[in-house]
Amino acid sequence: MTNQSIREAAAGLFPGGVNSPVRSYRSVGGDPVPIARGQGPFVFDAEENRYIDFVGGFGPAILGHAHPAVTAAISLAAAEGLAFGALGPREVALAESIREATGLERLRFLNSGTEATMTAIRIARAATGRDLIVKFDGCYHGHSDGLLVKAGSGVATLGMSDSAGVPQAVAGLTAVLPYNDPAALMRWFDARGAETAAVIVESIPANVGILAPDPEFLETLQSLPRAHGALLIADEIITGFRLRRGLSGVLPAADLVTLGKIIGGGLPVGAVGGRADLLGLLAPEGPVYQAGTFSANPAVMAAGLATLEALTPAAYQRLDQVARHLENGLQAAVKRAGAPASVVRFGSMLSLFFRPAPPRDYAEAREADTAAFARFHRAMRQRGILIPPSQFETWFVSLAHNEPEIDAAVRAAAEALREAL
Ligand code: PLP
Repeated sequence: MTNQSIREAAAGLFPGGVNSPVRSYRSVGGDPVPIARGQGPFVFDAEENRYIDFVGGFGPAILGHAHPAVTAAISLAAAEGLAFGALGPREVALAESIREATGLERLRFLNSGTEATMTAIRIARAATGRDLIVKFDGCYHGHSDGLLVKAGSGVATLGMSDSAGVPQAVAGLTAVLPYNDPAALMRWFDARGAETAAVIVESIPANVGILAPDPEFLETLQSLPRAHGALLIADEIITGFRLRRGLSGVLPAADLVTLGKIIGGGLPVGAVGGRADLLGLLAPEGPVYQAGTFSANPAVMAAGLATLEALTPAAYQRLDQVARHLENGLQAAVKRAGAPASVVRFGSMLSLFFRPAPPRDYAEAREADTAAFARFHRAMRQRGILIPPSQFETWFVSLAHNEPEIDAAVRAAAEALREAL
């Protein structure tokens, strides 16, 4: 099949021609690139055109694509049978490895990040006997009803603030506050603290591009909910095992943590973890129901184990070094082009904002010049560099990226910036 025939068939089969909205390239224009295969830092379209990839599957591909240890582990698991609907050895091994790296006392594996945050909230409501949830403007926690309020990721990309089909009675239980604003959080808790079950937050928001957390905001987040008997849920679905082996360390006082992406090695996964007493509320030990046919599927567990094995402290040093090289190159290109753009990086996650200074919150991120970003995206694509097709998604560097790929991306970016302005 050619790229065009895939797109044409998909347009009839799938709403918007895709199975997840950002893949449609709706906000950057042009034809979405159908990816047929990947190898290391590269992806290839259906016509074997090669791209240097900074999408990284939106987060999981930290080792690069088709890493031999991961593919071997999946093959072995597949050869041994895939769906038993029973406890097995691989989930124990992966959970022990995660517990050792994160300090989370207990875990439950699920099939996506969406399921993980949904379950964390159900636990928080059961633990507190309260209904209200606080989230932050632009943070994305998956597509469950109660969390699709002023969300980031595809919701931000498409310029939606909410989703149709979510009952007001459900959305009304979610309060949305501005990020990095301790005073707003204090006002909320003064007024409604006694009714609030939990505050959920991305440890480093990365779904409107990256927002750097202010230390004072982080302090308030970790003290205020607790003082009012509410829980803090740290969404580490992107940041877990991305910045270092284990959790990001940004919110050490969180009561519950959600994980996903990297811990599944490229296969669908989610996990909720935290204090033993809170996890003990889940059925069959406790009264909070949650279940899954595919939960802790052996192939997923095998891919996760192989991935975590490769993520040594030295691997994170290397990731940081390569990503810093990209950051420096992009900063220099921005300066040379005189572009009103800014670069934000945490470890191997990076944002290039088309606004002169990095945003502090979603309101500022929204001021970015998305038309210039769209031109930049097209110009990069033409030069064989694939970055996420939205100003509001984050670039990911993998261990398979080396200096030559970074230098090629920086050279392309220097030209693309001139075309975009
Ligand atoms: N939480 C965060 C921070 C995410 O970035 C995402 C997905 O991008 C999710 C939750 C939802 O995860 P999933 O897409 O696996 O349902």
